[in-house]
Amino acid sequence: MSVLAYIESEEGKFKKASLEVASYAKEVAQMLGTTVTGVTFNAEDVSELGTYGVDKVLKINNSKLKDFNAEAYADALKQAADKEDSKVVVVSQSADSKYLAPLLAVHLNAGYASNVVSIPESASPFVVKRTAFTNKAFNFTKISTDIKVVGVSKNAFGLKEVEGAATAEDFSPNLSEEDFSVNVTNVDKAKDKVTIADAEIVVSGGRGLKGPENWGMIEDLAETLGAATACSKPVSDMGWRPHSEHVGQTGKPVASNLYIAIGISGAIQHLAGINSSKVKVVINNDPEAPFFKAADYGVVGDAFEIVPKLNEKLKEF
Ligand code: FAD
Repeated sequence: MSVLAYIESEEGKFKKASLEVASYAKEVAQMLGTTVTGVTFNAEDVSELGTYGVDKVLKINNSKLKDFNAEAYADALKQAADKEDSKVVVVSQSADSKYLAPLLAVHLNAGYASNVVSIPESASPFVVKRTAFTNKAFNFTKISTDIKVVGVSKNAFGLKEVEGAATAEDFSPNLSEEDFSVNVTNVDKAKDKVTIADAEIVVSGGRGLKGPENWGMIEDLAETLGAATACSKPVSDMGWRPHSEHVGQTGKPVASNLYIAIGISGAIQHLAGINSSKVKVVINNDPEAPFFKAADYGVVGDAFEIVPKLNEKLKEF
């Protein structure tokens, strides 16, 4: 019996959220007195995973699984869980994992808890702490099925390095045509841009920037910091920025280490999407803007003066 960890990768690199999944799985495995088996899809060098607690890696190499496919991946993970007799399967809360986890839970006849931020204290009862109401509250959820699927929130648990090495084993799940009934035919991805979901740093602009022609300074700052760019809802509604950048209750959640909000008032619906970010910095010319109450650092002033100066300074480092 081992704890199964679904390890996602992108362009040959393991996603940080998946390394957190490995760290989480290790602690659960220690609590259960067992080991961690990671599952990778078309990954080459998996040696890094040992550092984050994976004892064995099942490497699935299949050209049909080059792009994420929820049904096929869920079936493959189910077969990996069967092979390893896994009672706990850990996934991240990436968009792919959120799609895949309920399918996997159905395959395994398992209970699924999402947005988990803690290690259960015992195997039985298996109770996990989860965020609720867009991170404004917590709940404690008991999973009482024999097999459990746990979705770990990004940045909640962190990376825990251990001394260890992972062994690798090739694994070929039996997949049928039914597993590929829904197929992604084309991925049109913005080149060289950090995506909001995976970004360590996000630079976000609001209506205070007056118009799309002023977004150059947001993009410049983001480039200096290696950050993703984001925006408030009205900004994307007005077509100043693409909807893919809209952050908040009705947009994307952001769980970055640093979130810089420029010319954004801090409406509750916006804050709902960024509560999981670790450090929030606000630049706003209105000292009464609600964002200052939610921020770790605030600069009161005109964004058009501050942002270019900040960018110049940062470039010196
Ligand atoms: P504004 O509220 O207009 O704020 C602009 C800010 O810029 C002000 O604080 C102003 O002081 C500052 N400013 C102006 N000039 C400058 C300057 N020169 N330098 C620095 N600062 C300056 N909003 C979201 O963002 N995400 C959501 O997901 C979302 N979902 C919603 C769901 C519902 C059901 C509803 C009703 C609303 C939702 N909203 C959402 C909208 C939300 O209520 C706010 O209206 C919106 O977040 C405001 O966007 P803003 O801060 O960019 O604009």
